[in-house]
Formats: sequence, structure tokens, C-alpha cells
Amino acid sequence: MIQYILFDLDNTLYPVSSGMEEALQRRIIGYVMSFLGLSTEDALRMRREGISRHGTTLEWLIHEKGLTDIDGYYAAVHPDGEEADLAVDPELRPFLESLPVPRAILTNSPREHSDRILKKLGITDLFTHVFDMRWNGNRGKPLPVAFYRALEVLGTSPGETLFIDDYSRYVEGYIALGGKGVLLDEQDTHPDFPHPKIRHLRDLTTFL
Ligand SMILES: [Mg+2]
Repeated sequence: MIQYILFDLDNTLYPVSSGMEEALQRRIIGYVMSFLGLSTEDALRMRREGISRHGTTLEWLIHEKGLTDIDGYYAAVHPDGEEADLAVDPELRPFLESLPVPRAILTNSPREHSDRILKKLGITDLFTHVFDMRWNGNRGKPLPVAFYRALEVLGTSPGETLFIDDYSRYVEGYIALGGKGVLLDEQDTHPDFPHPKIRHLRDLTTFL
């Protein structure tokens, strides 16, 4: 029996096609290039390798490259006004309100980013908790600790909590803990994903 839904934020509560992701990726690569003094090509390659060992670019830079200015990183990749062009889907709020169980957010972004996005989407009040990357000690999904800390606060277990994310590695990480995880694969980029997946957020109700 599902008692809670734990939502990812970016590219889950708004579509990949919003352009937010593209802009974010550009800023992250720009940061890596400048921090490590790399060409675009080398930054792309090294980051790809880095995040295969760590869940996020931030954790890679902290643990392998000596990054200490964590707030500086967040400010560079999540600047004020980043949400300016994000379109609001008028069906999102009624859909979330129609869900029969409480909702929380687990995001690998800092709180200032999630606050901006939720405000822009007009859904801040629909979540009981927002677990952000800083709250989690800058340790992100798919590390078990990132999931477990959130579930502990919610007072639920992986098996009672439905987790939805657009990133397959994070969903797999949650399922590995015995959790009920669903991949949001809007553009069907993971046709062979071996676990539950949906194309539209509204199809989440299938798992409740
Ligand atoms: Mg996401």
C-alpha cells in the first residue's frame, strides 16, 4: 500500500522540452571548464566519467577535484531568474491535488532552485517536504543515504513510498533498496528499461 509519493523535481514536474535542462547542462559544463581549465570536449568527457563514479557533478568535483566553494557552484549553475522561461502546465496543479496520498520532493538541486521552480509552477503548498541536496549533506540520489534520510523524516519505508524520477539511475538505485520506483520516460529514450516506466506524469495513478 502506497503511503507517500516522493517526486523528483527537474524534468519530472515539468517536461524535458521546457529548455531548462539544456540551459542547466550548459552552465554545468561551463563551470567544469572554468574550474578545471578544460576545453569543452575534455570537460564533457571527464564529467561523464566523473558522474559514473558519483551521482552528480557536484559530488565528483568535491570528492575528486577538491571543490570547496559549494555555494559558488550552486550559484553558478542555478542563477537567479533561471526559471523565467519555464512554461506552466495548467493541468499540473489539479493533477497533484487529485492524488490520494501526500507528496514530497527529493531533488539533487539546492533549495533555492526548488523554491523558485515550485513557486513558478504554483505548487509549493502541495508538498509536505522538500528534501534538497544541501539538506542531504550534498550527497544526492542514487546514494542510499539520500533516499533513507528522506523516508525517515516521512516515517515511511521504500516499499510504501512511490518514487518517480526521469533519471533511470536514480530509479534503479531506489528499486535496489526494495523501493517502488517508476521512471518518467517522456521521450521513450529507455525502451528496454526493465522496471516500471511511464510516458506521462498523469499515468502515475496506475501505481497507486
Ligand atoms: Mg530530474
